[in-house]
Amino acid sequence: AKPRIVVVGGGAGGGTVAHIVKRQAPDTNVTVIEKRAIYTSCFNSNHVFGGFRTFQSLQHGYDGLRKIGIDVVTGQADAIDRPQKRVRLSDGSAIAYDYLVLSPGISYRFDAIGGYSAEVANTVMPHAWTAGPQTQLLMAQLEAMDDGGVVVMTVPKNPYKCPPGPYERACMIAHYLKTHKPRSKLLLFDAKPYFSKQAAFEEAFRKYYDGIIDLNLTNEIDDNNVVRVDPKEMTVETASGLKVRGAVVNVIPPQTAGQVAIDAGCADASGWCPIQPQNFMSAQAEGIYVIGDATIANDMPKSAYSANSHGRVVAGDILAAINGDRAVPARYRNTCWSLIAEADTIKIGADYEPGQRDGKPYLQARDAFVSLPGESAQLRRRNYDESLAWYHDIIAEALN
Ligand code: FAD
Repeated sequence: AKPRIVVVGGGAGGGTVAHIVKRQAPDTNVTVIEKRAIYTSCFNSNHVFGGFRTFQSLQHGYDGLRKIGIDVVTGQADAIDRPQKRVRLSDGSAIAYDYLVLSPGISYRFDAIGGYSAEVANTVMPHAWTAGPQTQLLMAQLEAMDDGGVVVMTVPKNPYKCPPGPYERACMIAHYLKTHKPRSKLLLFDAKPYFSKQAAFEEAFRKYYDGIIDLNLTNEIDDNNVVRVDPKEMTVETASGLKVRGAVVNVIPPQTAGQVAIDAGCADASGWCPIQPQNFMSAQAEGIYVIGDATIANDMPKSAYSANSHGRVVAGDILAAINGDRAVPARYRNTCWSLIAEADTIKIGADYEPGQRDGKPYLQARDAFVSLPGESAQLRRRNYDESLAWYHDIIAEALN
């Protein structure tokens, strides 16, 4: 019988695995179970707020995967039956597998913030951390706001999807305010004392958005972790007891691995999924690969670039198993670009190798690089061009 490869989640990670396996081994049955008919990429979705990208340009269907013979099932995977090797869907159907890959992304911990809920996020205080209707809601709220209004953004502790994402979003919202509503302000409340690409971001805040962005990190005196919101009053409250009202409130809540991975027994007490660094096989649930945002990938951040990199290694591992070959040693890579102003992009990244730390398997960074303050406009424009090329390539590999 043909080997059956089932992938849960048709995003950056899952799409990559399905595409590579089906292309390289056409004589396999590859199924992707994806709850949404259209994928809206979170990556580059912040550009919409700055006016540098249309919302529609983030949307991609699954015809490309279907065209090469992948069975894309629009539906929700509810449970994994490991003894029977089947995935159960919410419509009651089941799909059998020989190889199973989970790439479900993240779920939100709505209960971590008093007064917040999925309902509040959908209607009043969008997180827009899953690109889609909430991206459009947040943009519409910014457009409806008076000049002189206050936008409040809250940022959680690590780990969460896309570590530099909130600060890129701050730049893009501030760019919109600067060009359309110059008397307005953006207040950031951050549960952390420091963050990714901080020096270059802080330079951008001063250079481009002086007097607009007000960054409040957590320090010894102030705990700026937002613990409560009031959607009627449009207020947020920090752990230190500071209460602030916004005309627009963007709450980025704490997160966990996608629920289906937790239910499958892949997550530990942290809510994220430990993996074996050499092939992203779950360290807890034997026989299930877990990739992308859902995983604890040690030094590797949660990004689409990372998920794509995990996906390539897992595709190689599955192909080797099918062909009876030995898998090649895994190497991973990540780059996260952030747009801070027109054609000014900063980046951070590294290569990653399976190794050991404190006697335990560990995915460690080497040859790391990061953008610094004071770089030339030319270099930043080259980063910008690179980021657009990357977007094209990852969509081509994961979704077309
Ligand atoms: P996803 O791409 O989220 O895919 C998961 C898929 O699984 C989803 O389509 C979901 O519908 C589906 N799913 C989940 N559960 C089920 C289920 N039970 N049944 C069926 N389907 C299910 N990364 C970068 O590399 N560069 C960037 O510039 C960048 N910018 C970002 C900006 C923002 C604002 C945000 C929020 C994120 C950004 N990211 C960026 C991060 C990037 O979007 C994620 O890291 C990446 O999408 C992770 O891929 P994944 O496959 O793990 O999950």
